[in-house]
Amino acid sequence: MKEVDVVVIGGGVTGTAILSYLSRYDLRCMLVEKAPDIAMGTTKANSAILHAGFDAPTGSNKARLNVEGNALYHELKDELDLDIKWTGSYVVAKTDEEIAALEELKARGEANGVPGLEIVSGEKLRESEPNLTEEIKAALFAPTAGLCWPFGVAAAFAENAAENGAEIVRDCEVIRITPEADGSGFIVRTMQGELKAKTVVNAAGVYADKVSALAGDDSFTITPRKGEYILFDKTSQQSLVKGIIFPVPSKTSKGILVCATTHGNVFIGPNANDTDNKEDLSVSTPGMNEIIAGAKKMIANLPMGAAITQFAGLRAVSSTGDFIIGRSEKVKGLYQAAGIQSPGLTSAPAIGKEIAAMVAEDLGAKEKAEYKKGRPPQPVIREMTREEQKKLIQDDKRYGLIVCRCETITEGEICDAIHRPCGARTVDGVKRRTRAGMGRCQGGFCGPRVALILARELHLPVTEIRKDGEGSFLYYDKEQEAY
Ligand SMILES: Cc1cc2nc3c(=O)[nH]c(=O)nc-3n(C[C@H](O)[C@H](O)[C@H](O)COP(=O)(O)OP(=O)(O)OC[C@H]3O[C@@H](n4cnc5c(N)ncnc54)[C@H](O)[C@@H]3O)c2cc1C
Repeated sequence: MKEVDVVVIGGGVTGTAILSYLSRYDLRCMLVEKAPDIAMGTTKANSAILHAGFDAPTGSNKARLNVEGNALYHELKDELDLDIKWTGSYVVAKTDEEIAALEELKARGEANGVPGLEIVSGEKLRESEPNLTEEIKAALFAPTAGLCWPFGVAAAFAENAAENGAEIVRDCEVIRITPEADGSGFIVRTMQGELKAKTVVNAAGVYADKVSALAGDDSFTITPRKGEYILFDKTSQQSLVKGIIFPVPSKTSKGILVCATTHGNVFIGPNANDTDNKEDLSVSTPGMNEIIAGAKKMIANLPMGAAITQFAGLRAVSSTGDFIIGRSEKVKGLYQAAGIQSPGLTSAPAIGKEIAAMVAEDLGAKEKAEYKKGRPPQPVIREMTREEQKKLIQDDKRYGLIVCRCETITEGEICDAIHRPCGARTVDGVKRRTRAGMGRCQGGFCGPRVALILARELHLPVTEIRKDGEGSFLYYDKEQEAY
């Protein structure tokens, strides 16, 4: 039976960040993820904002870890080569009552330790965001907020951890956790067999209550809260926004926003509706109408013809109302990273750092002398100069063959995505690592070609290549295999 010091359950941004920080210590670490790839839970469907940290109540785990996480991303951007744009964010107000709410948010943010908060006039706001309605009178500007690419963040943490000896096993659901009678650890049963672990870290997203209960701690529950979105193509930034625009928040969410993405698109959403189904990622007509109405309060004319897709994500709302972080009070050797709703993406590095330090202290582990910072470089053709492109293509012709025409992604980049540490195994895994299939045609042209490249590079029949989730095999007739 395989033996490790730590097993992290869940390969979202929380689990991969924890693994990355654990890999700095002299520990045998493994991450197990039930899906075919990392970051297929809430991490793949959210607003992608690195929040400044003025929303959460002062003194909460959310407030503390948000501000710490935001500061860590400012350091990690270069170290892990993360796709981040530090745009700052605005909360906008139309009425005197809303302007008073901005003052409250500013005071709370200052108490939370958020630097540089400033209330600006509507005119000043429209100098940078001219499409916003004239009805907006003032806005709270937070200069430390930014946009990121959440999948890219999780992939970077996973790649860094793998470079430092951590093991990542996908398609590996944990189905039973049995504490050893002598308190020396746990037998963890997965869909790929059993392993023995001295400690278990629970980072299972909306399933964190179930995983905790498997290990014997049923002290909290997680309720999914759905948020739906509409994504516009890249023509929309001109008529919409370049940064992050929030309304004044409600009790349950930060409100329906209008927001750019790191790759030049714009989205509107999310709404916030509780559900009892941990798998419900459906979008609905009432949901779409709700987010359109919400966004129109800030921009009257939405370019609905430029909408390219809709999607939904599930917030993991804990029964305590806060992040549940650290040692389980009921089970020795179990560590919780549960209830990680927003600002969980922003907080991930701070959660990772804190939990890794706790586990290392309890196991008496030291920091590794030979820890490798960063991750292998990833070539991105569309961001290179002509000269750089020419050189790369001379060395490897696959970088001259464009597979995704919408996003200009080459065969070389797709092969790199497959062979990187914790590389792509599915068509959508390639999409999230390279953007092949994220453009206007949404993979209609390149999807089948990507499947054939995956089959060739992984030495598998194409009938075994999945689009994304469990069982999503693609069928091709023999003639199409001649690529
Ligand atoms: C609508 C919405 C908007 C948001 N916007 C923002 C934002 O702008 N900024 C921000 O900071 N945060 C935001 N968040 C929150 C952020 O997305 C989450 O906090 C973060 O993605 C949570 O990551 P995670 O790793 O904890 O969970 P997940 O990404 O869900 O990962 C958990 C993983 O555990 C795996 N798993 C579950 N059970 C098992 C098992 N038994 N065995 C093995 N694996 C298992 C799952 O398959 C999953 O991959 C938003 C969330 C939503 C829903």
